[in-house]
Amino acid sequence: MSGKKERNKERREKRLQEISLLRTIPYSDDQRWWSQETVAVVTGANRGIGFEIARQLAGHGLTVILTSRNISVGIEATKALQEGGFSYDVHQLDILDGESISAFVEWIKQKYGGIDILVNNAGVNFNLGFDNSVEFARQVVDNNYYGTKNMIKAMIPVMKPSAASARIVNVSSRLGRLNGRRNRIQDATLREKLTNLETLSEELIDKTVSSFLQQVEDETWQSGGWPQTFTDYSVSKLAVNAYTRLVAKELCDRPQGEKIYINCYCPGWVKTAMTGWAGNISPEVAADTGVWLALLSDQAITGKFFAERREINF
Ligand code: NAP
Repeated sequence: MSGKKERNKERREKRLQEISLLRTIPYSDDQRWWSQETVAVVTGANRGIGFEIARQLAGHGLTVILTSRNISVGIEATKALQEGGFSYDVHQLDILDGESISAFVEWIKQKYGGIDILVNNAGVNFNLGFDNSVEFARQVVDNNYYGTKNMIKAMIPVMKPSAASARIVNVSSRLGRLNGRRNRIQDATLREKLTNLETLSEELIDKTVSSFLQQVEDETWQSGGWPQTFTDYSVSKLAVNAYTRLVAKELCDRPQGEKIYINCYCPGWVKTAMTGWAGNISPEVAADTGVWLALLSDQAITGKFFAERREINF
């Protein structure tokens, strides 16, 4: 391993140790803005990082709604969690199915009146190791970007006003960094347009992903200057990151008491089904930054990207 890689590895391991320590420090009473009446929804919570985020949020005393596109799997996952004695509910939710989303929103309104926290965790990836197939590009972009967008649009109207503000956390990936040194879009003009909040728009994000999908269909994507690693997944998460910043900007004028903070984070490379259990950290550690963002106490942080509880550049 090169000296630089070695130093990066050491730095990451040190940070993970710090986080393990931070996780043992309980929230003080004045940091706890939430109670058992606080409702958190987690998408794709039947397994992996979503399951762990649900478990940790309930461990902090919130009411957690575990959602799963396959309800029987969701019920089994909830049973496993309930053995810990915390408060969970479960509902079917496919983030790509308009009827499923509408039924979920209606159920939330009837049963809870609204929610305080939305964690958009559900996602897919079909590449492993050095593979870079775009065979499932449409599915990847639909699930990771359009699915997340569907949920944000559907849930904002049912986010409860509160002094502490409602929160949205998007589980994203460093692979979707716009301005990372490696694995970025080559077109500097497009990068600048997507970076600049004056030029960033939903149309621009949609147009960017559509143009990638069109090139996949035309079999020209390889010369299109797209990120080189897990290209479809990287494009989908780049769109999630850009959308996070855009929604933060759109929501920032809300009056105090009706604010909604929205951020995204990269959980790291995690031992879950998505990586064929080849990651280097556990779902428990991977969930940490998401849970921390969902529970932030007194800082109005919005439109930012995090990894290991630290802000990183988009
Ligand atoms: P996972 O174990 O494969 O879990 C993915 C979850 O998303 C499953 O519950 C899956 O449901 C659900 N899902 C997918 N499409 C859905 C849809 N249309 N509607 C509802 N649920 C859907 O993966 P994971 O590693 O925990 O990943 C969770 C999140 O972390 C994803 O957004 C992923 O991109 C992100 N992430 C993961 C890593 C990593 O190294 N693992 C790194 C960076 C980011 P089914 O069980 O029904 O398939």
